[in-house]
Order: sequence, then C-alpha cells, then structure tokens
Amino acid sequence: MEFKADALVLRAADWGEYDKIVTLFTAERGKLSAALKGVKRAGAKLKFAAQPFCFAEFVFAEKAGRHTIISAALHDGFYPLREDIACYYAAVVLCEACDRLLFEGIESPALFLAAVRTLEALSSCAEGAGGEARLEDGRSGSSYVLLRFLLTALKEAGYPVSAAACPHCGEQLSGRMRFDMESGAFGCEACGGGVPASESTYLAVRAALGQGGEVTADGVKRALRLLSAYFAFQASELPSLAEYLRL
Ligand SMILES: [Zn+2]
Repeated sequence: MEFKADALVLRAADWGEYDKIVTLFTAERGKLSAALKGVKRAGAKLKFAAQPFCFAEFVFAEKAGRHTIISAALHDGFYPLREDIACYYAAVVLCEACDRLLFEGIESPALFLAAVRTLEALSSCAEGAGGEARLEDGRSGSSYVLLRFLLTALKEAGYPVSAAACPHCGEQLSGRMRFDMESGAFGCEACGGGVPASESTYLAVRAALGQGGEVTADGVKRALRLLSAYFAFQASELPSLAEYLRL
C-alpha cells in the first residue's frame, strides 16, 4: 500500500551500510519512522530527505507495518538555519521537543502547523542580522520564537502553562512569585508551593502566550530555563535546550 503525507524530518539514524531510518512528524499520522534506502550512496536522489528540518511531501510504501520512503518533493529545507548557530540550535530543540511529545499514529495538526511556522520564523531570524527578526507581534530573536513554540507544544501535549492571576487567592501577580510544576501555573510567593520564579520570567511567558506584558532578553532566557525544568518534570529531559541555553 502507498500513501502520501506532508512531513517534517525530526532526526535520521544510519541503518546498515547505505540506508537511514528517519523519524518524521507527519501532518496526518503523527510520528512515523521510515526507511530511506540507498540514501548514503553517492548521488542518491533523496539525500535531502535525510536532513533535519526537511519539510516535504513524502510518498511511503507500507508493508507489514514498516514504512519505506519512495519519493519526496521538498516544500522547504530551511537552509538559512545553518548560517546562525542560535537559530540552528533552536530548531534542534524544536525537533527534539516534537520527538519527545509525539506518539506514533496520534495526529497533532496544531503542533505540526506551529512547528512549520516556527521553523519559518527561525529561518528568517537566521537570515537577518545577528539572528534577530521581526515577528508579527513585533518581538524579535530566536529565544522568543523558541519560547512561544515550547509553550504551544506543551499546551498541545496536555501540559499548558498558565500565567494569569494567582490560582489560590486571585491576586494579580508581581514581584517575587512561584511556579508550580504540578499544575504549570504561576502563583504568589505567600500562597503556593513550587519553585521561585521572577517577575521577568512571568512577563516573558505572558507575552509569549499572547497576553501582553513587557519582555526582556533576560526574562526570555529565564523563562526558557523554567520551561526546561517543567518539560523534564512533565515529559522528559530536553538535552538540546540545556545546550541552547549554554550558547
Ligand atoms: Zn495568591
């Protein structure tokens, strides 16, 4: 049986002498592994389809539950990402986050769309001076783009982050506060349990959630650090995010 699907390459691993196994995020079928036969031979036509971030329409052959890629038509290879280390690493974090949150056969169209849009934003970020780019909401930089994506990914996976009033007493939050890993919510320092969090972290998360708020580069960095811990608490470690934060 053959079928077509738009998909994003999350990672590729060597398999035998000439083949690779690619892990794909498909729009219609969630995560899917497929063999790319002969792709390591000189002059192989589908070499591009084994590159990370490759976004293409793939044609698969399915036999006894195994998939083989028989052709691919490139939509976008996001090649400018290779020109800026921060943007490139942010894209690596995106792929790793998708890989950890997705399961075979479970579709996630909203996350798929967010992933493609984020790669587009990071790509134009990499093309701009020093990894900066204007986004539709006027913010800039790969860190902010990545923060927005991770919040969307966590929400789609059932671990939404809430940056509203204190869930315990209903007060507006300011100054020192806490973040509760169980519920994914910020609360006041006096009311709730959880890890200490700064106001700049809270404001960066609010801005990235589209709820307004002042955003600083330091706040975005802190917010990414918090999400790294939250992601590990709810799903799994994201080694590439730790690496990104060390850049
Ligand atoms: Zn409170």
